[in-house]
Amino acid sequence: MNEVILVVNAGSSSLKFQVYELGTDHELSFTLGGQVSGIGGSRAAFKVKDSSGTCLVDRSLQPSEARNLAGAQEIMAAWLQERIPAPPIAVGHRIVHGGPKLSRSVLITQEILEYLDSLVPLAPLHQRNNLAPVHVIFEHWPEIRQVACFDTAFHRTQDNVVQHFALPEEYFERGVRRYGFHGLSYQYIAGRLREILPEIATGRVIAAHLGSGASACAMVDGVSRETTMGFTALDGLPMGTRPGRLDAGVVLWMLEQGMSHDEIQDLLYNGSGIKGLSGISNDMRTLLASDEPAAALALNYFSYRTAESIAGLCVAAQGLDALVFTAGVGENSPEIRTRVCQHLAWMGVQLDEAANAANSLTISHPDSCISVHVVPTNEEAVIARHTVETLLGQL
Ligand code: ADP
Repeated sequence: MNEVILVVNAGSSSLKFQVYELGTDHELSFTLGGQVSGIGGSRAAFKVKDSSGTCLVDRSLQPSEARNLAGAQEIMAAWLQERIPAPPIAVGHRIVHGGPKLSRSVLITQEILEYLDSLVPLAPLHQRNNLAPVHVIFEHWPEIRQVACFDTAFHRTQDNVVQHFALPEEYFERGVRRYGFHGLSYQYIAGRLREILPEIATGRVIAAHLGSGASACAMVDGVSRETTMGFTALDGLPMGTRPGRLDAGVVLWMLEQGMSHDEIQDLLYNGSGIKGLSGISNDMRTLLASDEPAAALALNYFSYRTAESIAGLCVAAQGLDALVFTAGVGENSPEIRTRVCQHLAWMGVQLDEAANAANSLTISHPDSCISVHVVPTNEEAVIARHTVETLLGQL
């Protein structure tokens, strides 16, 4: 086996990983990928597939085995040590926040790690988990190089105005800025469009990353101009458990009502969005299958606000040539795509029903003024490439 690169994406309830082989010309080939899912829950599982899609592992885990991220890391590390003859030459990590200082992927030193730890309050749901495997590898395998790849970095091309809030400038200087997230996903989409739809890639594109977290990004010629998430991953579109755009006065009201910081944080990160609004589930499939009026309200809110944000992003792009749907909901739900696009019909967006139902690459009707596409995202592939380029000092 050639030298390998390991990609790790440690989230709040899942630990995803991929292994890539590094060829002699530094080209990467995907070898296998898997995840420990349902961490901390009663339905935790460990699954791994190879590059042909063949299942290498598919087993349920005892709650005691994957009761937390540390347990999940042990499962992953033990399996990889058996499977891969030599340790990876580097590990690339998905790190949600690079803060004001880091706008490209970097080799992680102790100093960088301390800085990234200091950003935990900016992304409490993600940053601590993202960094947990970095600490473990530093402790147990200090010789392995580690690279941090940021969700915020892709958006650093945005105009100064776009990165501001209308607050006194001192807050901007202190780091209170619109950073934007899901940048690894948008970078993948921008690159993939150049490969599969080159005539669109250079134009004005809005990509809607609709998963558990959701955001949209306006790109022109593959460069980020504006995105819906801001200082934290709470802003913008409604999500599985986060509200999206919210009047800051609501938080002041909650404080006045005596809610604590932790209660408000838990409500905003874990109890809001389509879960909070429906009172049923954060899973889009469950809501789509439900007859409850509250489920209908959550679906209507999600579709309306998503379309409304897409229309708003047209200002940054100065028009729109193509709309791209990606991530769990965006890639798999014809119903949600239809609902979002119905709100955009006034802009001339028209779907081809059969193509949409089949999750085809192009789902717009030939008469549509704006082409509409479904492009599966692959953040791990971007991380793997950044990791190699960082090692080679090319970034
Ligand atoms: P993340 O990686 O942020 O955890 P994903 O991108 O995997 O999230 O998206 C998860 C969401 O995708 C869930 O709300 C899930 O219900 C939704 N989803 C997955 N498949 C479908 C489908 N066929 N129809 C509708 N929603 C789907």
